[in-house]
Amino acid sequence: MLHANLGPVATSFTPDLERIASFDREGRLQTYTERRRTWRRTLSGRVFERRTTPVRGWRPLDSREAAAVLGRAGELAREVAREARQELAQRLRDEILPWTPERLLAERERFDRAYRPVSILPPDRYAAIVLQATEGCSWNGCTFCSFYAGRPFAVRRPSEFEAHVEAVRELLGRGILLRRGIFLADGNALAVGRRRLEPLVESAVRAFPGEPLSGFVDLYSGERRGEEAWGWLRRRGLERVYVGMETGLDELLKKVNKPGSAAALESFVARLKNEGIAVSLIVMVGLGGRELRQRHREATLDVLARLPLTRDDLVYLSPFVEPPDRSDPGSDGMSAREIDEETRLFARSARRLGLRVSLYDIREFVY
Ligand code: SF4
Repeated sequence: MLHANLGPVATSFTPDLERIASFDREGRLQTYTERRRTWRRTLSGRVFERRTTPVRGWRPLDSREAAAVLGRAGELAREVAREARQELAQRLRDEILPWTPERLLAERERFDRAYRPVSILPPDRYAAIVLQATEGCSWNGCTFCSFYAGRPFAVRRPSEFEAHVEAVRELLGRGILLRRGIFLADGNALAVGRRRLEPLVESAVRAFPGEPLSGFVDLYSGERRGEEAWGWLRRRGLERVYVGMETGLDELLKKVNKPGSAAALESFVARLKNEGIAVSLIVMVGLGGRELRQRHREATLDVLARLPLTRDDLVYLSPFVEPPDRSDPGSDGMSAREIDEETRLFARSARRLGLRVSLYDIREFVY
């Protein structure tokens, strides 16, 4: 029996509970499930298959595999169209059926014209409107991170940024209904000095009025931005910043070549909270390996306990993942299982402090 969900922001249906497809309001496939296998088509036009072994995450499909999955989802839509009535029939006809596999695959080129690669987002911003005020990371020196390897840091000029914003708006189309908030990318976009950042923020807010803003900032740059500059961003809609805390152990920060210290984090978080900006702190579990395991945990929890965090704030626990192309002096070979156990221990201890805790598994990110 046909079940359909005709929400204002998306359409989904299943004729037999074995095959389920969902679409944005442009009619583009979002997810397809068939006999317990799940595929996701992302904004970049790429298709990924859910996997749980050997590691959790998403396997990218090549073009031939992607075309096959898109074809099967298209067949399902045509099958459903034969018995669909009223609004479902109309959405199928006007929105969904015009998207052939070839047309969906061609979305990659449109994406590549609008965006540079989107390397990572916080888990609660996967559905944000991502606007790349910068490319790369202003520091790009942490030994455990390869997100922006080989990509020099650059700040977009206002005219270039406006063209990018327009291209993003066009690419999203009515798919924007699924999105909430603006994420100012890439790494450390909020580290950019006021003179260059403020026109970009004004453009973003003008293009998507009323949408709250968020972005990454590194501790070193964030601390140097004075209260007045954070206040300006808050008044323009900055709701949350994401800070790679990694650890409360200064010696470990030094070891992985990350600028900052526990003391600097304390004063920075206090400044943000004074301005009414929420913080999400990202702690890397497994950093420092077996040798520093306990000291990393104890020092981090000590610092977290001292911060003026409220229920608006969040502590993300990010299990250490070996970077593919870097030898990392910070890991010292903890197994995936040990890192999982350590993550659970971290989570229990942080929750006992009254903190909100969530998982940030970079292997879950696809765009
Ligand atoms: S961890 Fe953050 S600050 Fe360090 S290199 Fe990666 S993106 Fe840049």
